[in-house]
Amino acid sequence: MALFSSRKTKFVDSDILVIGGGFGGCGAAYESRYWGRDLKVVVVEKANIERSGAGAQGLYAINCYMGMQWDENQPEDHVRYARNDLMGLVREDLVFDIARHVDSTVHKFEEWGLPFMKDKETGRYLREGKWQIMIHGESYKPIIAEAARKAASEVYNRIMVTHLLMDKARPNRVAGAVGFSVRDGNFYVFRSKAVIIAAGGASHIFKPHSIGEGMGRTWYAPWSSASAYGLPIQIGAKMTQMENRIVLTRFKDGYGPVGAYFLHLKTTTENAYGENYEPNWYNSIKEMVGDYVDHQPVPTCLRNHAFLQEVMAGRGPIRMVTKEAFKDPHKETVGWENFLGMTIGQAVVWASQNIDPKETNPELVMSEPYVMGSHATCSGAWASGPEDCAPADYQWGYNRMMTVDGLFGAGDTIGGTAHKFSSGSFTEGRIAGKSAVKYVKDLGSDQPQLNETEYEDLKTVVYQPIENYKVGRNEIVAGTVSPSYISPLQGIQRLEKIMDEYAGGIGTFYMTNEPMLNRGLELLAMLKEDLDHIGAEDLHQLQRAWELNHRVLTSECVTRHTLFRQETRWPGYYYRADYPKLDDTEWHVFTASQYDPKTGEWHMTKLPVHHIIE
Ligand SMILES: Cc1cc2nc3c(=O)[nH]c(=O)nc-3n(C[C@H](O)[C@H](O)[C@H](O)COP(=O)(O)OP(=O)(O)OC[C@H]3O[C@@H](n4cnc5c(N)ncnc54)[C@H](O)[C@@H]3O)c2cc1C
Repeated sequence: MALFSSRKTKFVDSDILVIGGGFGGCGAAYESRYWGRDLKVVVVEKANIERSGAGAQGLYAINCYMGMQWDENQPEDHVRYARNDLMGLVREDLVFDIARHVDSTVHKFEEWGLPFMKDKETGRYLREGKWQIMIHGESYKPIIAEAARKAASEVYNRIMVTHLLMDKARPNRVAGAVGFSVRDGNFYVFRSKAVIIAAGGASHIFKPHSIGEGMGRTWYAPWSSASAYGLPIQIGAKMTQMENRIVLTRFKDGYGPVGAYFLHLKTTTENAYGENYEPNWYNSIKEMVGDYVDHQPVPTCLRNHAFLQEVMAGRGPIRMVTKEAFKDPHKETVGWENFLGMTIGQAVVWASQNIDPKETNPELVMSEPYVMGSHATCSGAWASGPEDCAPADYQWGYNRMMTVDGLFGAGDTIGGTAHKFSSGSFTEGRIAGKSAVKYVKDLGSDQPQLNETEYEDLKTVVYQPIENYKVGRNEIVAGTVSPSYISPLQGIQRLEKIMDEYAGGIGTFYMTNEPMLNRGLELLAMLKEDLDHIGAEDLHQLQRAWELNHRVLTSECVTRHTLFRQETRWPGYYYRADYPKLDDTEWHVFTASQYDPKTGEWHMTKLPVHHIIE
């Protein structure tokens, strides 16, 4: 009790507030300083930027690099690639904007000390695939964090941001954010002229394969908790493509990456009987999606679909054929280093399960769904595009500004722009930072003002789970069972079960339909009511409570988008059983949602897909 009675409120003023110090956030801090030498740039991060975010444990490849200096690829090629992989639907202006700037970001990483593998003959970066280059990236995150630390005026680590603040005088303008320190419990009020959200994607929305002893073993980082979506949704920002959840084929149980295996080691997959199964599903896929199946490379979701169908036909497990490749000492080294550089857990899983990839072809699995905007899918906020190439209806102000004035985003936060990965997320952070500086300079004397009642009320709301616990704990039975509150763990398990069973998780082989989605929404509404009765016994649990809050709002958004899009656009990611085919006549569009914080209602619309690259 003494811990919380000494709780203080701390005020932090800034010109630019960056929420989340991962790849997008570090890029935003770096570039904001470059253009805004005299501005106060503050980064707020719930962990520690040194080792935070999806790339915290290191990466073995930079997955987005054009190689324009050697004429390897042009930005237009990357737009075609992303469009193809997303079955026709990407914000081409935003993808192009990242692609044309991403090489300069990668060159900076090398300057800052990130070790790159080089082709011994040409001296170029060693390619893993057409877009990927190989790095010794265990320390990738500390290296880019150093640049952000030097650029920012102040970095606040261990502060969980829970809500955004709006301007007192002008509707629809952001004015800052609030959060609490997960170390000392102090309440933070950040006042800022511009806010950039770069808070990463969302795991633990859908029930994962690994529960019980393996809980926390997911592909996407377990600490990616949907704040990138929950924060803007709360204040009515327009969201797009939230139904476009990602499902990945990965090594079973450790979720080790397969990219280096497919692309560099040239391994293939086979079913339980040693057969190449993908061609068997060609005709049925063509029936569902038409000519998209003939595109090269075959879109990721369609390859997932073939995997899934083969397993459902009883010919699983699907395995990666490693025995041949691992006879080559160079490939064997790459195969293991790939895990040591980014997913050590996979090497441990293989050791614990007696799997030597030289002797045994390891099993693959299709993951539970995740929500994100920087990998192979593009959920996120609807953002204004670059003024030189965005069509008029994709442009209402500053590049990467959401539909809320002064609110920008980068990385997983921004929708419609798949395949940016680490380098593209940092690049998008740079783009957002530059725009935010321009926005702040254009504001002049028209400064946003905080509403004291708003942040004082939020202070009560933020710590309510602690109060709930303090009162309700007297009734606890059997150690953890309380009639008066639910714990964050109970809440997240309930959320995962709802999403899994009704919104197309692993439990239904990613299948859903209108009645299931509607029932899922009813159950989510009941869960939302119970969020007022979450109990948090300490600051760690308080953080879990607010992460759950952001996850639940995001889940509702995902469910509503899935309900709205009456087609199966990406078989292999999810299926609408009542609309089992791709429908380009009605649905060659983006889906959009807007939550009304006053009424709790959602407004769904279609937005046009403009093709600006041939
Ligand atoms: C398993 C895996 C493998 C990957 N492999 C590759 C690869 O090989 N190559 C590649 O280029 N890319 C890879 N990526 C993609 C890359 O990591 C992401 O594209 C990138 O990290 C996205 O950047 P971001 O800034 O949006 O999110 P992140 O980098 O995840 O950063 C988000 C930050 O926000 C913080 N945060 C979240 N919520 C709050 C809050 N409420 N308050 C304060 N702070 C908050 C988080 O702690 C985190 O630091 C991989 C990702 C994963 C998960």
